Amino acid sequence: MDPITALLDGVLEESRSLRHGATADYIPELADADPEPLALAVVGPRGRVRGVGDDRVEFTIQSISKPFVLALALQERGRDAVLATVGVEPSGEPFNAISLEEGTGRPANPMVNAGAIATTSLVPGAGIEERTTRIVETLSAFAGRSLWVDEAVYASESATGDRNRALAHLLRSYGVIEGAVDTAVETYFRQCALLVTVRDLAVMGATLAFGGVNPATGDRVIEEHVARDVLSIMAGCGMYDFSGEWLLRVGLPAKSGVSGGLLAVAPSQFGVAAFSPRLDEHGNSVRAGAAVASIADRFGMHLLEPHDSIAVPAITVRSRGAERIVQLSGELGFAGTERVAAVLKELAGAVAPGTRVTVDARELARTHPAAMVALRDEFAVMPAGFRLRE
Ligand code: GLN
Repeated sequence: MDPITALLDGVLEESRSLRHGATADYIPELADADPEPLALAVVGPRGRVRGVGDDRVEFTIQSISKPFVLALALQERGRDAVLATVGVEPSGEPFNAISLEEGTGRPANPMVNAGAIATTSLVPGAGIEERTTRIVETLSAFAGRSLWVDEAVYASESATGDRNRALAHLLRSYGVIEGAVDTAVETYFRQCALLVTVRDLAVMGATLAFGGVNPATGDRVIEEHVARDVLSIMAGCGMYDFSGEWLLRVGLPAKSGVSGGLLAVAPSQFGVAAFSPRLDEHGNSVRAGAAVASIADRFGMHLLEPHDSIAVPAITVRSRGAERIVQLSGELGFAGTERVAAVLKELAGAVAPGTRVTVDARELARTHPAAMVALRDEFAVMPAGFRLRE
């Protein structure tokens, strides 16, 4: 077992002792599910899947489908059209709440059921079949393999889905969704019944982490700005009425599902997913939440703590004859330009007058226009011989 897999295994075993919570009881097929499976997986930039526990056990994706269908709607319809249909504010309410905006009937956000049904209604396609196909294709591209609908779970939810159907009728009465209520709601039930493993979810999360490119297949699934939008909404709303506390404690955009799955994304780092069917009072998996929180903590992934990889670009200084080359790599942002300027000032004091000093910015993986403006500006006060190659 490689060291990372061993670490995952240790985290998984720690969470195994948590035995409180209960499987969802409002969907008969889920109520009968075995509560014991436990699995964890992570996927980084090279697309290698590391999984432990029951990482090949399939379960229905449920609400974790919501961010990916949102991605499809954003990609196809654009942000303005999506925002006209559904808000992006945390609702502070349970996932199945009837939380619609006064006057407009717009659901609070796409992560609660009402908002997800509205988002699903934006997926292009003539009817249930066509839209479902579009959704299955998109989520399969995120996962890097063909996903299938569990017909028994779909039928079970459709037969008992009165609350979601009622929500859809309300949405239609406000004009938030157009067309047949059944088209939106049955498509939504199907997307929720897609079968995945934690390995799939980790790849799907990694695709969001790496700006919409699936690191396992190399395929671009969605545009980078769409991935950013989806992650922003997950950060605020993905854990329902626990979203604020989750962001505080774990600091990663995440999404949970009522069958016990949980997905979190560390941008530019990894996708991580866990599965255990017993849920807490918010409808989030108890053990999956603990395992993902522990992984985030061990790798220092909280988004809002200092991350030196961005603050400090890689700067190496080498000599080529009398010339000095200052090689920049990585990402250059606001803080990075100040660090480069400090290195240049030090060099200016150390080298003989007239020495040629070349700052090579051509290998930067990512630059921000304002940072480059600031960097160019530094050369105004540098000695003769200092120049920037970009
Ligand atoms: N299909 C489920 C529902 O609509 C999804 C809810 C969830 O996973 N939280 O009730």
